[in-house]
Amino acid sequence: MPHFECEYCSAFQEAPAGSAGKKAKCPRCRQTGIIQENEALVVPKKTPTRATDDIDLMPQYEERPGGPLERFVEGRLEACLGSTLARKHFGFADQLMAATILGAPKVILRTNDSGTASQSPLLLESKFAVQTTSDITAVEVTFLLFDVWNDLELKLTHSILEDVPAASVAAGLRTWPVLRAFNVSHYLTSFTYVSSVRLAHGRVQTTDPRVVVDLLSGLELRFENRGTFKGATQPFDLW
Ligand SMILES: [Zn+2]
Repeated sequence: MPHFECEYCSAFQEAPAGSAGKKAKCPRCRQTGIIQENEALVVPKKTPTRATDDIDLMPQYEERPGGPLERFVEGRLEACLGSTLARKHFGFADQLMAATILGAPKVILRTNDSGTASQSPLLLESKFAVQTTSDITAVEVTFLLFDVWNDLELKLTHSILEDVPAASVAAGLRTWPVLRAFNVSHYLTSFTYVSSVRLAHGRVQTTDPRVVVDLLSGLELRFENRGTFKGATQPFDLW
């Protein structure tokens, strides 16, 4: 069955027969993507509506169960789909913030195929989308990456510095160079949220870090049970 899986917010939807290869707009964040033919090359999904806990879409090949998360095949970095470990991605939509992350963006590790020898051979990449409820002028998104032991491995941020009106969606694409591959070779889980918003009249909202810590403290249980965190912080208002 053809299907659409949004690269920005992980929305998943089945598509009509014969529609593979056509462009489609994401029903949630309105970004454009391509309808895929079938799921033969995709890791089987436990439930089609929960599109947040899959490893990245990569060509499939034979790999012993229990192998590493990824390896180089003919110079390309590929996910080991036979691994019994699966990458998971989570988004936290803080409903007191004027902008919230949509769905659960992926943070993927990939080779830098456009670079020169002086650039990093590996990149971390994320496509994400943010929904606004007020007019804003800037938004900062934070990506927390955890290793297989649920220890925080990396904290990455990206800021969108542009005017975004209320009730609209801003999408972003960001890559970060990876200088030491072992730092990211066994990261397993990402957790993405809007950490700061600058409103049009100048006020800044910041997600309460204590709420994030509280959400993450029950990491293992939460990771087994659901993909998207819902809740709200008491935002710090900075004038
Ligand atoms: Zn989307």
